[in-house]
Amino acid sequence: MSEIRYDLLHDEYALIAPERLHRPDCYRTLREEESADHRNCPFCPGHEAMTPPEIFSLRDGGDPNTPGWKTRVVPNLYKAVQIEAPWQSEEVGIYTLWEGLGAHEVIVDTPRHLTRMDGWSENEYFNWLYTLRSRVNDLRNDIRLVTISLFKNHGHYAAATQTHPHTQLIALPVVPKETVVQMERAKHYFDRRRHNIFESVLHQERSDAKRIVLESDRFIAFCPYASTFAFETAIFSKNGIVSVSDLDEPMMRELGGVLKQTIDALYEELGDFDFNILFNTPPLQKNSETETFYDDIPHIWRFGIRIVPRLFRLGGFELESGIQINPVLPEEAASLLKTALKALS
Ligand SMILES: [Zn+2]
Repeated sequence: MSEIRYDLLHDEYALIAPERLHRPDCYRTLREEESADHRNCPFCPGHEAMTPPEIFSLRDGGDPNTPGWKTRVVPNLYKAVQIEAPWQSEEVGIYTLWEGLGAHEVIVDTPRHLTRMDGWSENEYFNWLYTLRSRVNDLRNDIRLVTISLFKNHGHYAAATQTHPHTQLIALPVVPKETVVQMERAKHYFDRRRHNIFESVLHQERSDAKRIVLESDRFIAFCPYASTFAFETAIFSKNGIVSVSDLDEPMMRELGGVLKQTIDALYEELGDFDFNILFNTPPLQKNSETETFYDDIPHIWRFGIRIVPRLFRLGGFELESGIQINPVLPEEAASLLKTALKALS
């Protein structure tokens, strides 16, 4: 039987329709052999001159823009916005325009030209999280920037254009409507029930105990009840942190371990697959768009990461209705991932 499930956090429906999956293994992706030729890769060590000068690098020594780095951050060569633009809006008749102010950065996650994330070591996860935190904390000092989107596109179906592991960051002087709507819903939920919406979800997941993949002291990985994508996995903080900015080094080690186990289990189950990773960073500044909820963020929000496998392409129904058809029950996905974890340990 298919089910229409309501996603409390995102105010969306998912159509969970397992009968649309004809063969149990038909979601396994077969990737054509990618070329192992790194000669033209702008993100490989030794090719630093192929990118704009670095904004940040994690390294034990050596000069900027030379090999020896563990992670490296550069402006996106094809950036959608730039930090040098003037900080003013302009009225164009009834419309408002900003001159492309913002930051668009590429984080090169590791010097290794790995095409699969299950090859990452725990240190690589730690260095990656450390670098993301450094960039968010640095950009937080620029009061013009109000929101930061941190995301990773991996593979063709997830819109990646470089095979070398990388993450992107876009910071903007405006707040996307989706963010405002989600924050205001979280505040409304808290005002009405005196309870954090994320903690309510975790409480329900614990009591159902059917969709949890793994837990550490401070983090939990689970397949959300109304997953819009097959094998979608969320990792939430179990303590009070709200953003990647709040992670201290022991937490980064712990989260790196949970991420590694979750991603390794997904590879074990799905084969080589395309995916997006999304961080739910709350707005950075209080302004006219965020003042209704900004001071309440510590009560209403919790840090989370979504790993979204891109196994199927969108069809007309999804485009027309905005409702995703997910052919894999989240309970089934969690159970398969737990089995994969056992096989890996
Ligand atoms: Zn490379």
